[in-house]
Amino acid sequence: MMRQKLFDKIYGCLLGVAAGDAMGMPSSLLPADEIQRLFPEGIDSFLPAPPGHMIHDQMVAGEITDDTQQTLLLADLFLETGSFTAEGVARKLIAWADRINAFDGLYLGPSSMRALKLIKDGADISKTGLIGDTNGASMRISPVGLAHPGDLEAVVTDTAEVCKPTHNTNIAIAGAAGVASFIATALACDNLEECVDAYFYGVKAGMQRGGKWTGASIQHRTEWALKLVRSGKTEKDIWSNLYNYIGTGVATSEAVPTSLALVVMYAGDPWQVIRAAANIGGDCDTIGAIAGSMAGAFAGADGFPEHVAPKIEEVNHLGLEQYANRFVEKLVLADD
Ligand SMILES: [Mg+2]
Repeated sequence: MMRQKLFDKIYGCLLGVAAGDAMGMPSSLLPADEIQRLFPEGIDSFLPAPPGHMIHDQMVAGEITDDTQQTLLLADLFLETGSFTAEGVARKLIAWADRINAFDGLYLGPSSMRALKLIKDGADISKTGLIGDTNGASMRISPVGLAHPGDLEAVVTDTAEVCKPTHNTNIAIAGAAGVASFIATALACDNLEECVDAYFYGVKAGMQRGGKWTGASIQHRTEWALKLVRSGKTEKDIWSNLYNYIGTGVATSEAVPTSLALVVMYAGDPWQVIRAAANIGGDCDTIGAIAGSMAGAFAGADGFPEHVAPKIEEVNHLGLEQYANRFVEKLVLADD
C-alpha cells in the first residue's frame, strides 16, 4: 500500500471524527426543530455552543468533545501497546474520566458511566458491559479499523474486546464492528460500495458476539435508511425521515444506521456528511464523529476543505497529523 495514501486515509479518518464532533457540538442532543429555531441559517461551519446548552455550555467554535477524546484514548492504547485489550480500554477510560471529573454530570454516556463506575468498585469486566447498548462504542471505535487495513476478521475480534468493559452486547458490538469494518476497508479501497459491503459484514459478524440484547436490527434499519437516501426525496425530507423513522438518538440501532446513510447520501464527501449530521438533530456530535470517521477514511484528509484541519488544531491541539504518522509507522513496521 502506498505509504502517502495510507497516511492520508488515516489522517482523514481522525480528522472526520474531530471535525464531525466539533461541528455537531453546538446542536448535540437538541431536537431537529430546536436546531432550526436556534440556527435559522443552518449549521455549515464550526459554531460555539448556544448559551445554556445542557452539556456544552461555554464551549467555543471548533471545540471537540468526548467522542474525539475517547477515540484518541483507543489510538493511544494501540500505539503504546500494539494491541487492544478490554483491561487496557477500561484503564484508559477510567483515568480519563477521573482526570476531567466526568463521573459527575452528563458528559459521559449512559453505558460507559454505569460500567466504569462498577469497574472502579472492583466488578469483573466480563460482566460490566452486559446491558450497554448505546452508541459510545461506535463513536470511539475507529482506531480498531485503522489498526487492521483490509482485515475484517481482526476488526471484529478486536471490536468485541474493546466493547467488553462497557458495551458487551450484540447490538453495540454490531454497530461498532460495522463502522470499524467500513474504515478498515476504506483504507485500502476507493470503491464506496465495497466499504458499505464491509459495514454489513461487520454488523452481521458483530451480532454474533457479546451478550444477547434486544433492539431494532441495525442491518435492517440500515437497509431501510439506504432506500430512503436513494429515494429521490429532497435533502430536507431525507434528514427529517432519518430523524423520525430511523432515529438519531443515543441508541446504537439509531445512530449507526443514520450515520452510514449520511455517508452514502453524500457519496463519502466528509464535509457534506458532517454538515448534515450537525443539522439533522439528536445526537449530532456523535453522529458527526461516526459518519465523519467513515467518510474521512474513505475520502482522506485531502477530501476536507483546507481550513478544517488548522481550525481543529488551533482550538484543540490534538496533533492528529502526528497520530496518523505513528499509525503508519506501526503498520508499515508490522508489515515488514
Ligand atoms: Mg460528544
